[in-house]
Amino acid sequence: MKTLFVTSEVFPLNKTGGLGDVAYSLPHALHYQGADIRLILPAYRDVLGQMRDLTLISRHDIDGDGCTHSVRLLQARHEDFELPLYLVDCQPLFDRPGNPYNAPHGEGWHDNAERFTVFARLVALVARNLAGLDWQPQVVHCNDWQSGLVPALLSDLHERPRSVFTIHNLAYTGQFPAALYQRLRLPETLWHPDGLEFYGDFSMLKAGLQYADIITTVSPTYAREICSPQLGHGLDGVLRARGDKLCGILNGVDGQHWNPQTDTYLPAHFSADKPQPGKRACKAALREYFFSDQDGAAVERPLFGFVGRMVGQKGIDLILDVLEDTLTHSDADFVFLGSGQREMENRLQVLAARYPQRVGVSTRFSETLAHLIEAGADCFLMPSRFEPCGLNQMYSMIYGTPPIVNRTGGLADTVTDTNAASLNDGTATGFVMPTADAASLADAIARALEHYQQPALWQQIMHNGMTHDFSWGQRARQYLQLYST
Ligand code: ADP
Repeated sequence: MKTLFVTSEVFPLNKTGGLGDVAYSLPHALHYQGADIRLILPAYRDVLGQMRDLTLISRHDIDGDGCTHSVRLLQARHEDFELPLYLVDCQPLFDRPGNPYNAPHGEGWHDNAERFTVFARLVALVARNLAGLDWQPQVVHCNDWQSGLVPALLSDLHERPRSVFTIHNLAYTGQFPAALYQRLRLPETLWHPDGLEFYGDFSMLKAGLQYADIITTVSPTYAREICSPQLGHGLDGVLRARGDKLCGILNGVDGQHWNPQTDTYLPAHFSADKPQPGKRACKAALREYFFSDQDGAAVERPLFGFVGRMVGQKGIDLILDVLEDTLTHSDADFVFLGSGQREMENRLQVLAARYPQRVGVSTRFSETLAHLIEAGADCFLMPSRFEPCGLNQMYSMIYGTPPIVNRTGGLADTVTDTNAASLNDGTATGFVMPTADAASLADAIARALEHYQQPALWQQIMHNGMTHDFSWGQRARQYLQLYST
């Protein structure tokens, strides 16, 4: 099966979140299962700088915002990629430093609509074998709003590949003003409520939802949730109407990069059968990173970790609501890695200044520190209000760090709450909050601490998570089946 996988970010080139991990690991899993899968993404400055070889394939004049851009299709080589990699190079749109979507102050780049329209137009040419590759994909697999226009641009052609559109997060709708639609010269025939129009604007995410042959999202529970007004972000009607084309497939974990036995970011290694002394050494290194001048006994104290974007979705405000009380009434310590809304970052920094030996905060983007927290913490915090799939809770279970999660989306599908029955049948892997509020979180933290004080029970919960199969194998096969239906 020949598949073109379209993404706006990919690990290790320019990852900002879960999509970056999946855009690397899913195509590689499919490649190992024999698919001819190739990856295409914009040629951001950071990405170009990491390439070993670049070959010009073709050059095209592509309509932008009131102008025409000269766009190059490049073939690239990078040592971490075992499959062909193509870059869409348009200097005025992609040759700039920093985040792929946001300007330095955190708001979206002013020309995002133009950037991802030009990107989609070139991808559509590649999909039709009109870009000099002499390769015709049978399937074009698009991901999130940044590639949502691709299925729409292909929709009225007789000879075209099938399109698959995966929702990694419905909250980001890629919504832009109607005036831009005109200026970008997007097809007038697609401007209607059953097309790209979205409450008077247009939405690139909606384009993918309306025109893809198949829609997937990254967990079965999220596939159901987004069909309801509560989590539908105004698109639940569209999703209900296309319900027969929508399915949820859980993301898998890339066992090459997320494996405590081999992880090159860690100072020590460990396994489900022998978690110690490796995990303890990781904890000591993690504590040393965040807390200076501590005595040897500090490593015995329970340590909670958080890694993620600091936004309302991730429930960071719920953690802030219970943090001080937990610090007062327990001996638990906390470390946080992530950036996002300034207000949340600042509130955490205030607590870190007040409790310098018990609360550690880093607002960097650090792959090394993310791995160290997954490995070195005792318990992982992920009380997301909604979570399409979530990767961090799976990483934490594999690293023997039982997560505290809210019962939503992929968190509900991957974490089994600890109770008498699940301890008995060996399925307990974490602590599930019935609702996303501070009281449920406080209760889950208290339950985790209670179990942590009973080493035999805690080791069993760790072991259950560490031995669970979170690999891509079966999940990638589900994609292969979809591609060929
Ligand atoms: P989302 O896609 O909503 O951001 P996921 O849990 O699916 O959430 O994936 C987040 C990914 O991004 C994980 O690999 C996580 O480790 C990583 N990540 C998030 N913030 C940071 C950060 N500040 N430094 C390093 N990695 C981060």
